[in-house]
Amino acid sequence: MSNVQKILDDLGLKATNPGACTGEWITPAAGRELVSINPTTGEPIAKVIQADEAAYEKVMQTAADNFTEWRMVPAPVRGEVVRDLGNELRKFKDPLGRLVSLEMGKIKSEGLGEVQEMIDMCDFAVGLSRQLYGPTMMSERPRHRMYEQWHPLGVVGVISAFNFPVAVWAWNAALAAVCGDTTVWKPSSSTPLTAIAVQNICNTVMKRHGLTGIFNVAIGPGSVVGERLINDPRVPLISFTGSTKMGRHVSEACAKRFGRSILELGGNNAIIVEPDANLDLALRAILFAAVGTAGQRCTSLRRLFLHSSIADDVVAKLVKAYGSITIGNPLDDGILMGPLVNEGAIKDYENALEKVREQGGEIVTGGHRVDRPGYYVEPTIVRLKSQIPISCDETFAPILYVLTYDTLDEAVRTHNSVPQGLSSAIFTSSMYSAERFLSHEGSDCGIANVNIGTSGAEIGGAFGGEKETGGGREAGSDSWKAYMRRQTCTINWSTELPLAQGVSFDID
Ligand code: NAD
Repeated sequence: MSNVQKILDDLGLKATNPGACTGEWITPAAGRELVSINPTTGEPIAKVIQADEAAYEKVMQTAADNFTEWRMVPAPVRGEVVRDLGNELRKFKDPLGRLVSLEMGKIKSEGLGEVQEMIDMCDFAVGLSRQLYGPTMMSERPRHRMYEQWHPLGVVGVISAFNFPVAVWAWNAALAAVCGDTTVWKPSSSTPLTAIAVQNICNTVMKRHGLTGIFNVAIGPGSVVGERLINDPRVPLISFTGSTKMGRHVSEACAKRFGRSILELGGNNAIIVEPDANLDLALRAILFAAVGTAGQRCTSLRRLFLHSSIADDVVAKLVKAYGSITIGNPLDDGILMGPLVNEGAIKDYENALEKVREQGGEIVTGGHRVDRPGYYVEPTIVRLKSQIPISCDETFAPILYVLTYDTLDEAVRTHNSVPQGLSSAIFTSSMYSAERFLSHEGSDCGIANVNIGTSGAEIGGAFGGEKETGGGREAGSDSWKAYMRRQTCTINWSTELPLAQGVSFDID
């Protein structure tokens, strides 16, 4: 049996799979066929029959109907279901991690890491299920009590990007479930098999607890299933992860119907390296952030600001390190960089480098497609005298723009001058420089690190960015609040009716 077949068998995937599920797969599925392609070879892995209108409707209505019961289950009991989901994911960590690598192209260690992130999210959500606190306020009126409480919100639509095909679902679904919401997931059309595998795991857990319709999936094109979801009045919250262009459209569609949206969009992340930095540390962090996941993380390092006194030395060391990056099948041991996701991503890489040449950048290493089957490119370093239009855009590929600076003020100013605001970092051993970078006049990003690269966030913090990254926050901290509705309650237990602000409104 081939390795690919074993992964599919371990996760209950067939050569052709239905694409819509509420706990039971909806068959016979009648939508159009979608073929999942292995980016390592360009060959098909398996097929999915996408959700047609009737299947979408069944999924959505089941999610909406089951919400009314799920919201009345005590939150700690909901937490037990999520605990079970985490345990089931532990059992399937190896095949699911491998499937992530197979279908998306990230290396095995990152595929497994993504499943670990799902497990961590479940653990976090279980704890939260006993901590969905609202504060109590001191009323200005005698014998009055004021407090805030949080209610479940409804059906949460989760639309995810190809590059984190399972972890982003878990960020949303684990929190939504303990908050009393049901979810309908529309995964990326580049990674439908990972979604089916996750849904199979959810089905086992739901069945064990006598549940249905808590975790649901509807696979289909963005222009069909995605559009239905973002315009569906039964969905009070859309959590969207993807490009800024698409996020703008999703935001407008939700706002038009007074729906809420969480937007996790494109980044243009940067590291500033000060002359007093530990350069060994910085080099390792730069390498992982720029080359890891073949530059296909929202937090991938795209711009590197080097102090002029160390710039040539750091670039020379980086070029040497780039020469040692092992490129190949992401499932093989010892490989550090897999393929890009598809042919379109290769075109984006080539077009960006064409613009680099036109706009005066110097390619110091890389710059070519790798001559082998699949969608491989060389990790690339470009030196710039100043920012150029293409370095202000996100290209989802391993292209690193290197700029030099003389003062930290100048570096921070240029760092903040792009439209995106996701992740940022400084390498320094100076307390002043670190604090300057983290201050109100420092990084304008949602994530700001010291002596850590831009990618690889832990789930305990709220994850998300500012400006054209969309302003969303997911995963840790108090991100759960986005999945609930807040209610302020005031109770009068006196026999008087005093009005707030001393207003009097009495009939003589
Ligand atoms: P994309 O915008 O092409 O697609 C994202 C999702 O939107 C997919 O599921 C797609 O099918 C869906 N979609 C397409 N048309 C739609 C429509 N009309 N209505 C509703 N949904 C529609 O993004 P991608 O190429 O899959 O992912 C890469 C992008 O995602 C990058 O820009 C990256 O920075 C971003 N991303 C951001 C974060 C973050 O947390 N900030 C995380 C991961 C990825």
